[in-house]
Amino acid sequence: MRVGIMGGTFDPIHNGHLIAAERARIGAGLDEVWLMPANVPPHKPRAPKATADQRWDMVCLAAEGNPFFRPTDIEIGKGGVSYSIDTIKLLRSLHPDAEFAYIIGADMVQYLPNWHRIDEITQLIRFIGLARPGYELDMSNLPSSISSCVTIVPMLQVEISSTSIREERRIGGSVRYLVPEAVRAYMEVNHLYES
Ligand code: ATP
Ligand code: MG
Repeated sequence: MRVGIMGGTFDPIHNGHLIAAERARIGAGLDEVWLMPANVPPHKPRAPKATADQRWDMVCLAAEGNPFFRPTDIEIGKGGVSYSIDTIKLLRSLHPDAEFAYIIGADMVQYLPNWHRIDEITQLIRFIGLARPGYELDMSNLPSSISSCVTIVPMLQVEISSTSIREERRIGGSVRYLVPEAVRAYMEVNHLYES
């Protein structure tokens, strides 16, 4: 079984994530995509605004309706800072028959050289890279040991970020059609990102 791992802070999950996950599934011929919220993301300067439980709930709501999507709480369940090297080793030991690839947007492709223990990661897993507005998908500036592990698949430019959703919520604007309706309703009921 070929599984794409779409990791993120998902604070909150939005349609850009879901479109990227679906494009990766089609473009790379994946059997499933697992949506995996980080517990404490290593790359972010600030802690997530929503709790891990709330981010998990929203990921579960967003995965509904796509039979190929599955939420996984492997990083939240493990706790602490979510380093990909640890997650990959855990996934491989729990699912020895699966072949895993990481699905990442263009910002993360450019950031790969900074990933904790990237030289070990590239020995264990491949990446599926997708376009994102504002970021180059040109990999000529990356070391070949990294760029050779990335497969680019077709993606449309989706100008949605969790940052822009949080900001829109903060100013009382509308996030309809930027996130799944169930996620929008969850944010509303739980007063998420209102300040
Ligand atoms: P934030 O603004 O808080 O950083 P984000 O929208 O970047 O949130 P993350 O949870 O940081 O979302 O990203 C998780 C993964 O999804 C990353 O690999 C990122 O590149 C990818 N991603 C997020 N939004 C898009 C998008 N609109 N198009 C393509 N990839 C995306
Ligand atoms: Mg981000």
